[in-house]
Amino acid sequence: MKQIFSLLIAFYITANLFSQNITNICPPNWWVEMKDSYLQLMIHGDNISAYDIKTNYPGVKITSATKVENKNYVFVDLVIEPNTKPGKINLEFTLNKKSFTQQYELKQREKRIIPYGLNSSDFIYLIMPDRFSNGDMANDSISGMKEKYYGRENLTARHGGDLQGIINHLDYLKDLGVTAVWCTPLLENDQAEWSYHGYAATDHYKIDARFGSNDLYKKYADESHKRNLKVIMDIVPNHCGSQNWMILDLPMQDWVHQWDTYTKTNYRTPALVDNYASNYDKILMTDGWFDKHMPDLNQQNEFVANYLTQNYIWWIEFAHIDGFRIDTYTYNDLQFMIDAQKRIFNEYPDFGMFAETWVDGIGVQSYFKGDNNLNTNYNSLMPGLTDFELLWSINNMVEKPFGWTDGVGNIYLKLAQDYLYGDANKNVVFLGNHDLSRFYSVCGEDFNKMKMATTFILTTRGIPQWYYGDEILMKNFTNPDGRVREDFPGGWPGDAVNKFDANNLEGKEKDFFHHVKILANYRKTSLPITQGNLMQFVPFDGVYVYFRYTDTQCVMIVMNSNNKEIQLDTKNYAERMSGFSKAKNILTNEQFNSLTTIKISAMSADVYELIK
Ligand code: CA
Repeated sequence: MKQIFSLLIAFYITANLFSQNITNICPPNWWVEMKDSYLQLMIHGDNISAYDIKTNYPGVKITSATKVENKNYVFVDLVIEPNTKPGKINLEFTLNKKSFTQQYELKQREKRIIPYGLNSSDFIYLIMPDRFSNGDMANDSISGMKEKYYGRENLTARHGGDLQGIINHLDYLKDLGVTAVWCTPLLENDQAEWSYHGYAATDHYKIDARFGSNDLYKKYADESHKRNLKVIMDIVPNHCGSQNWMILDLPMQDWVHQWDTYTKTNYRTPALVDNYASNYDKILMTDGWFDKHMPDLNQQNEFVANYLTQNYIWWIEFAHIDGFRIDTYTYNDLQFMIDAQKRIFNEYPDFGMFAETWVDGIGVQSYFKGDNNLNTNYNSLMPGLTDFELLWSINNMVEKPFGWTDGVGNIYLKLAQDYLYGDANKNVVFLGNHDLSRFYSVCGEDFNKMKMATTFILTTRGIPQWYYGDEILMKNFTNPDGRVREDFPGGWPGDAVNKFDANNLEGKEKDFFHHVKILANYRKTSLPITQGNLMQFVPFDGVYVYFRYTDTQCVMIVMNSNNKEIQLDTKNYAERMSGFSKAKNILTNEQFNSLTTIKISAMSADVYELIK
């Protein structure tokens, strides 16, 4: 009896996977009642293009089956009519009067727990999953995968961190005041080396087994949503891994940008906006490869475009993703990105998105914001950008003394140019990420500057984003970049100290952790900061004052970038302060019953909630 039962299970599993002639179908399933009735299946199998394909599932029509250069692929266009019932379609393949059947599942769409989208009430926490926490030692090495676990000393190798490790610390993030988690890519990267970073996908529909599984990713998303934490997926449309199964058996030669010899991009985004740019530079920017091990996908090929776009919709629907961070946005075919975004917004209006725009110059950065006020023929439709321009100002603030265009003067000058953006509240504001030197090192391990910059990103306009471990003052410079991707202490069984437990923090670490926690949690409940307006005053003598306000509420932030305490006369700020007579210092809980003058310590920022 037991044997028959096992046989039945084996049959059931096989029936759900591929027939012997088929090695892959992308997407692996779809859903009924999507707004867009169109679906293109990419079917891979030995000589599969020679077969005729039919189906007789009610509501589903095959409108075409396209053969391409490589006989191992066929692209099947389907229309799934409204009111089609969920179930398994039988796709019937016939060649020389011999047939086989492949099942393809159309699932019922599931209800979401929280609505998707990102806005300025969020606080995003960025995790490099391999370096955050190892919740499952059993998956550190996977047989059959190219890169094994060699130990944690090597900064370029895998350290064993995984999805279970993140799930185990969702309460830690919630407690810190985080509302959204962005993990660097979790898709399979079965590359021989450097596979931990995740930006070289070898299977777009599979979570890397060393991080977990698709089911575990779904569980991670569900557990996040139960805690009101949003899930941000890092998508990489520009390139994939050289060992990707599609690259190893290219559907067509122009699936990727082909060059006679390896040709890298010039990494020069300005070439895309420059009135004087050569075509040579423009093409090199977009079609050159980001790295030797990362083939540049040709998104002007309509099959590539469909493949990628459906992949993003599949993940949103499968795991209830709330937003995308889009890697190397400016290196993509810009029209492809617009078309892909349109299809995503069609299914999920107001879906959260922000684009990596690692550029210099506000005129370059704002070009990529969909609602910008520039007079160009290009509209990216992109709601948010990673605000590198503001980061350069924050760096200036901690590196240079106050001046007309330096120190807090630079912050003022940068924000004064927000008129270029449209709604700058969708810009993502940060002190660091996985590619940048840790901010505590950037500011010369100056504790006061670290706190001041943190206060700034948590109270200015935009969506603040935090890099894992900065809350416990992790430090180091890039070069090699592994130095800024060190393991979170306590994330691995047997670590000498567990810094996820605030009781184990000491001195400045403890002080700073509470600084972040107090402000992040205060921010959550503050309408002026999350939804209100910003007013800044021209800085003078190294003092910068700005307000976040609604019609009835007001929060005042005073930054003193001098090396001495100051006594600030508040009469110049009557425009925002009139009607308020008292204030509470959010960081210290002190109450002030007079606002005529405010005392601010050297190199610090205070946050005052004004009271009537
Ligand atoms: Ca592991």
